[in-house]
Amino acid sequence: MQRIDHEGNDIGNIDFFKHEKEFFGTAPSVLSRHDLTKVFYEALPESTKARLLPNKRVATIASNATDDGVIITCQDGSKFETRLVIAADGAHSTVREQMRNLALQYNASLPEGVVPVPINKEQPYLTTFRCLWVRFPSIPSIPTGTTSETHGPGAATQSFAAADTTATGVYERLDKPTKERVRWTQADKEACVAKWGHLLVAKGSTITIGEAYAASTESGMVSLEEGVVDNWSFDGRVVLTGDAAHKFTPSTGAGCNNGIVDIVAFVNELYTILPSSVSAEATARQPSKKDVGAALERYQSKRHAAVVAAGAASGQATNAASWANWPTSLLDRYVVSNKMMQRYVASKLLTASAINTPVFSFIEGEDRKGGTMAWVEPMTTLSRAVAAV
Ligand SMILES: Cc1cc2nc3c(=O)[nH]c(=O)nc-3n(C[C@H](O)[C@H](O)[C@H](O)COP(=O)(O)OP(=O)(O)OC[C@H]3O[C@@H](n4cnc5c(N)ncnc54)[C@H](O)[C@@H]3O)c2cc1C
Repeated sequence: MQRIDHEGNDIGNIDFFKHEKEFFGTAPSVLSRHDLTKVFYEALPESTKARLLPNKRVATIASNATDDGVIITCQDGSKFETRLVIAADGAHSTVREQMRNLALQYNASLPEGVVPVPINKEQPYLTTFRCLWVRFPSIPSIPTGTTSETHGPGAATQSFAAADTTATGVYERLDKPTKERVRWTQADKEACVAKWGHLLVAKGSTITIGEAYAASTESGMVSLEEGVVDNWSFDGRVVLTGDAAHKFTPSTGAGCNNGIVDIVAFVNELYTILPSSVSAEATARQPSKKDVGAALERYQSKRHAAVVAAGAASGQATNAASWANWPTSLLDRYVVSNKMMQRYVASKLLTASAINTPVFSFIEGEDRKGGTMAWVEPMTTLSRAVAAV
């Protein structure tokens, strides 16, 4: 990751990707969310694809008649009754809001003396930065594979160059942090370009943010909310994952990755109680709401501390890159670039969390080869030969 300041001066590279290859045998890859989603979608069996209902918007969730499931009503009026809602509906999650309503209704119905369930905050995330993102056709002066950041007071950029297009984000500190959902307009995008358009997109190139914006094929502006929701499930019937449960700034590229790890941890817990997954005895009974509720709580307890730490690390990285105050600016310019310190931090901090990443406990596979550090929970060894892909 190359780094320059707002004037284009080199402030030293960060070699974390190189260290990750050394420790884990593989370096991070940059790929578009669209491509990743496509890979997941295409891996689904046809029978599952046939059951997907795209273009539905969840509007409300209510308890069913027997209180062991829920009824989902969509914006088009269609209704679905189900035992468990798994929410992956993003930072402004409708399901999270509906889950909070269910918990409030539940508490209101309790007889006196019964302990109420905890209630989440209505607005769990705080926005300190907003992001203008721009995608433009790649140019020779920013070669494929370039990762570059521009640091300085009030704003930082991150750029990733692929063969066809380059993506750049400007992370701009707001005058005042807000918990409100803000919908940024075209005028806001243009104001951001007017203020930061002179910044260079990448070290070694003269193209500016303003020129990239003028050449853009796509662009947008989003709030960079931050926070971790206190309670991720309700009554064994609703559970939150991904940005619905926790939201980070993009600086360490950890938001989506942690959402994926949520699913691994969650499915591992669900697998132990699903009828077809464990034993003949389990097959004979459906998991009770209590069993599911306990599994959902185990899922949260396995993930909560990790996402709190990951969110804090990302927030610190965004603060440091935008030179929040003079100590962080000095650290960012003169200390972070020290290679020995980078390797030390990578070995102590990065790996301390990364090696604890869960893997699917019930899917056989082969661990990556070549790294010097082993996962705490290795993959279940393959019991049969499979073709390498
Ligand atoms: C500029 C930027 C760069 C980033 N870079 C990285 C990176 O390098 N690495 C990384 O790991 N993460 C990165 N992230 C974070 C990443 O994009 C998010 O963490 C990730 O997209 C969250 O996935 P999600 O499925 O939880 O939510 P989302 O991606 O927000 O998806 C939510 C989905 O739910 C749907 N939905 C919403 N409401 C409803 C409803 N009522 N009914 C039905 N469907 C609904 C939406 O249409 C959407 O499809 C970045 C974020 C930003 C802003």
